[in-house]
Amino acid sequence: MSYLAKNYNRKKISFKYGKGSYLYSTDGKKYLDFCAGIAVLSLGHAHPKLINSVKKQSKKLWHVSNAFEIPEGEKLAKKLCQKTFAERVIFQNSGTEATETAIKVARRYFFSIGKPNKNRILCVKNSFHGRTIAAIFASGSKKMTEGFGPKVPGFDHFTFGDHKSLIKKINKNTAAIMLETIGGESGIKVIPDFCLKELRKLCDKKKILLILDEVQCGVSRSGNFLAFERSKVKPDIVPIAKGIGGGFPIGAVLMNKKVASGMTPGTHGSTFGGNPLAMAVGNTVMDIVSTKSFLSNVKKLSKYFLLKLNKIKDKYPKIIKEIRGRGLLIGIQLHKDQAIFINKLMNNKLLTIRAAENVIRILPPLTVKKKELDKAIKIITKVCKEFE
Ligand SMILES: *Cc1c(COP(=O)(O)O)cnc(C)c1O
Repeated sequence: MSYLAKNYNRKKISFKYGKGSYLYSTDGKKYLDFCAGIAVLSLGHAHPKLINSVKKQSKKLWHVSNAFEIPEGEKLAKKLCQKTFAERVIFQNSGTEATETAIKVARRYFFSIGKPNKNRILCVKNSFHGRTIAAIFASGSKKMTEGFGPKVPGFDHFTFGDHKSLIKKINKNTAAIMLETIGGESGIKVIPDFCLKELRKLCDKKKILLILDEVQCGVSRSGNFLAFERSKVKPDIVPIAKGIGGGFPIGAVLMNKKVASGMTPGTHGSTFGGNPLAMAVGNTVMDIVSTKSFLSNVKKLSKYFLLKLNKIKDKYPKIIKEIRGRGLLIGIQLHKDQAIFINKLMNNKLLTIRAAENVIRILPPLTVKKKELDKAIKIITKVCKEFE
């Protein structure tokens, strides 16, 4: 009997503790954790530097209101701006709060320049931006919105990869296009660099803002600190979350000065967002994951892992349809049943997580070791063999 509501489809397993890339279950088994809390645990479990910063900060100060200055947040915001396109930052507690705040920033910007009707957000049909009321209607997904009406107005949708449908849906009231640089939940769908460039041009031409949701693909997961950086485009607003707290709930909205100008005192706030304990953790994660050597290691591991995965695909073309992704945000699209495959991996002590389009998401901690990748390759090969 559980007193928890049944809104999750949980696997019947729980964990006592974690260390690095491994999780130890309450029934005494050791698992390779390539779910990493869904791209959250960028430094794996129980990273000594994170433990230390929580310890240190928890003895000093956990929380103060945003009615006061918070130096730890100033520090993290400065680092985020120095490493990225951003010039201003707002801190939140989760991904969906960050995407909603991104929408608020876009709308408020046009309001502040005397164009309050320019308020519609154009999103990819069946995308994912979180689970709050506005975010589910931003997704345009029947599955996520069913039973949660009335419909939140202000969102339009175009088909992923369909340039004509995108152009057709832009009108004089469009404020922003919002999409993920690499779709996570939707099945590890990478937007090619040339498309990002064209998108930026289109937004400039139509005088609309570009919001790139990097809640999942951001914070070094892709091998760049932010995934769009490789394309050299500059978005206007970028929500991030999952990886930046390394397991502590943190969300943030990165933006340029122009759009930030609409966010005047009193327009937006959060009780918990950016509190000293969260910011101490965020600073530590940021210091580690944003260095050149850390990023080049993610790229190196990724290249190795993708090569090995593609070899498995070539050997088992009837089981694996496609290997997708960039950095350590990887998808294996299957011909076979996804749920059975995931369970078989779990029985072999490898934890992964599903995504749309019959894709298994593989999200190791960014601190994963080469020999742990080799272990995963062995398990995936074994499960493919079992399927034959
Ligand atoms: C996970 C995710 C969100 C929502 O984040 P929560 O922390 O679960 O609210 C939003 N956008 C993208 C792209 C995500 O992957």
